[in-house]
Amino acid sequence: SKFNTYFLMKPTDVIEYVKEKLDLFEPEADLDCKEIGDGNLNYVFRVWDKNTNQSVIVKQAGETARISDDFKLSTDRNKIESDVLQLEGKLAPGLVPVVYKYDEIMNCSAMEDLSDHVIMRQALIEHKKFPLFADHVTTFMVNTLLLTTDVVLEHKEKKALVKNYINPDLCEITEDLVYTEPFNDYKGRNDVFPPNLEWVRRELYEDQELRLEVAKLKFEFMTNAQALLHGDLHTGSIFIKPDSTKVIDPEFAFYGPIGYDVGNVIANLIFAWVNADATINDVAEREDYTVWLEKTIVDIVNMFNEKFLKAWEENVSEVLAKEEGFDKWYLGTVLRDTAAVTGLELSRRIVGLAHVKDITSISDKNARLRAERICLTAAKDYIKKRESFKTGEDFLATLREAV
Ligand code: ADP
Ligand code: MG
Ligand code: MG
Ligand code: MG
Repeated sequence: SKFNTYFLMKPTDVIEYVKEKLDLFEPEADLDCKEIGDGNLNYVFRVWDKNTNQSVIVKQAGETARISDDFKLSTDRNKIESDVLQLEGKLAPGLVPVVYKYDEIMNCSAMEDLSDHVIMRQALIEHKKFPLFADHVTTFMVNTLLLTTDVVLEHKEKKALVKNYINPDLCEITEDLVYTEPFNDYKGRNDVFPPNLEWVRRELYEDQELRLEVAKLKFEFMTNAQALLHGDLHTGSIFIKPDSTKVIDPEFAFYGPIGYDVGNVIANLIFAWVNADATINDVAEREDYTVWLEKTIVDIVNMFNEKFLKAWEENVSEVLAKEEGFDKWYLGTVLRDTAAVTGLELSRRIVGLAHVKDITSISDKNARLRAERICLTAAKDYIKKRESFKTGEDFLATLREAV
């Protein structure tokens, strides 16, 4: 078989591959295939039967990032992704795609086709509402995060998982792009909207207090092996439709602070908020949509708190974690980390190497400038005042004050 040695597949290869390796299609089936990847790192193929419409997704990892040969990345990331999707599927049923196969030679996996969903970032840019999202994403986070901590898992089992998901190459990307570079541009890779350069220099690069706080946070990210994170939980990693939410793309998974995932979700809703603020001209329509986003941010934090404490009560096994008050103390540290990461993600997507379409698609120069400054002003407060965030209303107040 030509699939006994690794190579980067083309659509015609993928058609042969699925016929040979999966039970899904008959040998004589009339298949078509298209590469549909839009992420930064990997190749994603959709294969479908022209007669029955039966379909499947094949995701393959290359030896470098799709967007740049500068990033050499272990192809193990595809194994990490398919293992984590299967574990998450057990912990949070129905909230991730079903994985059919992982192939360690071709560094690819086959999974459920979610083409009846849309990528949430794009849907939010189109100002669509998803009333069940806060409920779905908080169930996903509480179940995949709290249930993989050593508050719940037997400690040797937890340590085995930590060892399984060290993921050094992908962690390095996060350490560099989220923590190290946005606040000083050490490597000269930042990509700042030119009209904002002076402001960014003064308000981020020259803010020594902020830089010190970020240094502390980087070391917490690297050393606090708290829970098995998704690691890339932005709105581009979420497939959605009104009655269903599916989290994809956990190739950055590793053991880190719970707030890393929660903060990513909050920050990416703030990007949708500033996009709506900048691009919806009708006052009533703008108000209606931004209020929905605000409610969603508030609900996510408050539902996360509620579900976290309930799941704690039902699942905790560590004896000392049952000490009176320990649950609330622990949750407090998670909220502190959530606030910090909200600020880090807001900053790095504005000034760093990898931007988000919510911001870059704002075509009016002054409107984009305003959107970016709202994000960065809020970001500084989320980071510096991180100890003070307890409720959804606290998170919203900082966004409001930045406007
Ligand atoms: P990357 O790791 O390169 O970011 P993703 O897993 O995020 O790759 O996938 C990139 C794109 O491919 C998604 O934005 C989506 O459009 C499409 N895609 C990925 N997984 C599926 C799936 N299970 N069903 C349908 N489309 C998918
Ligand atoms: Mg992706
Ligand atoms: Mg818009
Ligand atoms: Mg990815």
